[in-house]
Amino acid sequence: MLGVGLNQDSVRPGDSFLIHPRFANGGTRVDSAHSSVFVHFETSGGDCETIAFQADHDPETPTARWLPGDQVVDVVGNHEFGTPQVVYVPATCKPGLYHIHLGLFHRDNPGQRHLDEVLGSISVSWDAPPTSEWDPEPMEEEEGWRRKRALAERYPNAVKLEGPSWIFALDQQSGGFLFTDRNSGAHWSSNPFADRWGLVRLARGAEVVDLEVDGFDSIGHVAQGLVGKRVLTIPGAEHPLHFTLTISPTEDGNGIRIESSLDNPTDWQVQHWTGLDRAFTVSDAEHGYALAPRWLGELLPTDRGLPVGRLWGANELAMEMTGVVKDGQALLISWDAPEVSLVTHLSLRDSPFIPGRRSQSISLWTTGPGQAVEVRPAARGDYVGVAQAYRELARARGYHHSWAEKRAAAPQLELLEGAPQFRFTALHNRLPGTPDNAGAEPLEHLAHSFRDIARCAEHWRRTLGIERAQIVVAGWNRAGYDNQHPDILPANDEAGGNAELKQLAETVAAMGYALFLHDNYQDIYQASPSWDAGLVNLDENGAPRLGGLWGGGQAQRLCTLRQVDFARRNLPEVARAFGAPGYFLDTTLTTRLETCSSTDHPMGVREDRAARLELFNTARAHFPLLGLEGVREWAVPSAVFFEGALSQKTVHNPNWIVIPLFPLVYGDCLDLFPIQSDLIGLDDAAKILDHISYAQLPSFSFGEGAYFERESRAHMAARPHVSRFDSHGNGEFTLELAWEVTAQIEQDAEIFVHFTHPRSPRAEGLVFQDDFLPPMPSSTWRPGATVLTGTRRLRLVPGLWREGPWEVRVGCLAPVPGGGEQRLTLDSPADAGQRILLGTLHRDGGQLRLELPPAAGDRRVFTRADGGWAAELKPTDRLIKNVVEVLTPLKRLVVGKPMTEHRFLTADRTVERTHFGPLAITVNRGENPFEVGGTSLPQFGFLVTSPTFVAFHATSFGGLDYPGGALFTLRSLDEKPLAESATLRVYHGFGDDQVRLADRVVTVEREAVINQNAATPR
Ligand SMILES: [Zn+2]
Repeated sequence: MLGVGLNQDSVRPGDSFLIHPRFANGGTRVDSAHSSVFVHFETSGGDCETIAFQADHDPETPTARWLPGDQVVDVVGNHEFGTPQVVYVPATCKPGLYHIHLGLFHRDNPGQRHLDEVLGSISVSWDAPPTSEWDPEPMEEEEGWRRKRALAERYPNAVKLEGPSWIFALDQQSGGFLFTDRNSGAHWSSNPFADRWGLVRLARGAEVVDLEVDGFDSIGHVAQGLVGKRVLTIPGAEHPLHFTLTISPTEDGNGIRIESSLDNPTDWQVQHWTGLDRAFTVSDAEHGYALAPRWLGELLPTDRGLPVGRLWGANELAMEMTGVVKDGQALLISWDAPEVSLVTHLSLRDSPFIPGRRSQSISLWTTGPGQAVEVRPAARGDYVGVAQAYRELARARGYHHSWAEKRAAAPQLELLEGAPQFRFTALHNRLPGTPDNAGAEPLEHLAHSFRDIARCAEHWRRTLGIERAQIVVAGWNRAGYDNQHPDILPANDEAGGNAELKQLAETVAAMGYALFLHDNYQDIYQASPSWDAGLVNLDENGAPRLGGLWGGGQAQRLCTLRQVDFARRNLPEVARAFGAPGYFLDTTLTTRLETCSSTDHPMGVREDRAARLELFNTARAHFPLLGLEGVREWAVPSAVFFEGALSQKTVHNPNWIVIPLFPLVYGDCLDLFPIQSDLIGLDDAAKILDHISYAQLPSFSFGEGAYFERESRAHMAARPHVSRFDSHGNGEFTLELAWEVTAQIEQDAEIFVHFTHPRSPRAEGLVFQDDFLPPMPSSTWRPGATVLTGTRRLRLVPGLWREGPWEVRVGCLAPVPGGGEQRLTLDSPADAGQRILLGTLHRDGGQLRLELPPAAGDRRVFTRADGGWAAELKPTDRLIKNVVEVLTPLKRLVVGKPMTEHRFLTADRTVERTHFGPLAITVNRGENPFEVGGTSLPQFGFLVTSPTFVAFHATSFGGLDYPGGALFTLRSLDEKPLAESATLRVYHGFGDDQVRLADRVVTVEREAVINQNAATPR
């Protein structure tokens, strides 16, 4: 710890100030674990007992890049680390002196600190100067214009390269550049804080040096382009390095191609160099933003957030592109190499070339040979325009393989058009010492036999009339879910063995559905019959790379070069034995591309990518329909669906602005599903809207066995809610529950509280849990009383998914006569696991905040069937029927068609609209009603309009009012427009049973096919 800087000594309650912690690495190696910085403000410093507020954060330069300082004092380079933070003081903070307690910790193990010091203090006082004295006021317009002019004239003597629609000017003296879009007149430039092209970082042992390319020795014209050359010298090194930059027009002429190369005769290793260095700055005053193509895509605004640089590793990015937008002008930046990482910089620093107070810019760090970057102005100045410009490149690269092309090669793809997903895990097998088994014996549990699954499929087809579905079965393999891979055959006897799995495949096919079997080639266990330590992927130090701790124990990573051998051994036999058309390969795209240092199977990241593609091809040779977990554009041609990306939207993290970048580019090539544990449950109205807005199908939650005929469970007549929540900082909080008792309770129940996240790999999305017996046994609770079950002081152990938010769910367990225990139903609406949603836990800075859920009735709106089709069915089936009646016809209309438009219609982004050509979708998640073309959408309302299909959940439509809301769909069965259709099908989900057609109002209780040319419904 070198020290800590403050922009002021005192601050008012409710205001903010800037703190700058400064670190150096005094050790001998880097911190490979990626530590975070904790900054606590405590009344008695150092013990964390009195934290008033805090500013924990991840430093701009990850600690893994904090190179040791003592060996390199004589060498050029940066040895000081630490990122300035804006700290917000709560308005309720008591005036007084607060000690600054700070250091380093690892997020997976917050108790263990690498550095722990108390350094200085800040005074919270009403006499302090107000924050407005330093927090940026908006820039005056005139000053903004002056700075825009300064940017346009930044390099007057630069060497120019001109294209039909752009001018690129490279300054020999400084290395800076200016790129002008002639169509829009926009100017984009190099680093606003330094006149240079960029940096080259080299290392020799523990020594590190950054060489600045701050000018060119020469710039020459060649063929169509410019070539800049620069000799770089490492202090004390015998030979210099030669850096060459080539700028040329892109093949399509629409932009520039930037290539750089480095001739390095020294004994220093190149760590990375900047393909771009804090380039293409946008500002808050220009409504600027940058794009990160992680999962679906994120918009990174400039007008808020802490000043921070974020590294988006090559392995985090679904597409090799980014974009920047300012004042309705956009640039697409793309590359074609798995070694390029993106860095986005949000800054409060001032520069005469930034026409605003806050700015954002991008860097590209490259480590490998593929350092060509292309930059093009987008015809349309927003993220939709950037995505559409990138679609053209995706086609040229061969990644954009359309649904129609895939269907021509595999006609079975038609089975999936509009098919929701139903996912089963047959046999769970948790070995001792794995996350959900603290005992000494394996815990085996059969959730669904193959016969159960077949009966569910028949039920969905015959009782619910569901035309299409994909049935994904995991846990069918010999030792149960996540056990003994890559040894999978035969199907386990507990679920019914090979014969009944084959029978299941036949039943599913007879229903017109597609069966997918779940498999995994990344994991190998020491308990696997094929276990051989020589097959494992080795890291750069020769140590085995580990997978997760799953039900089958500690998984190790099977080297990708060996995975395909096992697939070739297994898959022909699996295909022969069962005849399923579909296969699902778990974890294939979520793990990073790796190197392997084994001498038997050495591998670089490009070989890893090639080997994964070979694995996919092997699977497709036996199963025409392949599903993959994760999202990577280079796998688009291989898959019919990607699982996982959609959960970025359904998790509703308030810190993310999720936009459909990936769907705009590739949505007409394959389906996108949420991650496997992220299922649509009874109270998931918001998630259902997420699916509707992108026209994607969900995966449903339902009970075990043949869920629709299970006898009812034991009941506990009580309603729980949160009676007290306090955050203590540092992940600690107090939670107290109150139970309204509605009738006499017979059982003595145990209470369990689950903290869940859809990306948690554990059962039911569990992250951690608190189980306890109530202080007074529940059999003694008196009807009419409200029973408090004690304050529980808990500490959040966030596990793999540390950003949250986490859902808090409660349920009750009671012993079953004859042994075992079962979950009880309660008086509140519950999910399929009989758990009641109490709220959502958010991380706000260092404090935790509990957000209470909207009224249960609203969140369960799609389980309504009052007066409608599914009135006689149970809630799970009502939900499935209503959602499928909306989403299956919607998806069938847009399958293989690109999303053409996306917009948020309100500032809080609770209302959004999507277009697929003439089809428009509007959804309203917000509490306020939203009007669209005479249709009123309540919270969780939606409207789909197209020439041949209309669907809505609305409080008014076609001049008819539905005070409590109603759900209808209208579908033309003869492909004529709805107004002319002679076979128009009306589906009535719930609410009043009248609906307006083109020329009349009809009454439909469940469903009807109407001939509008005839006088009465037929
Ligand atoms: Zn290997």
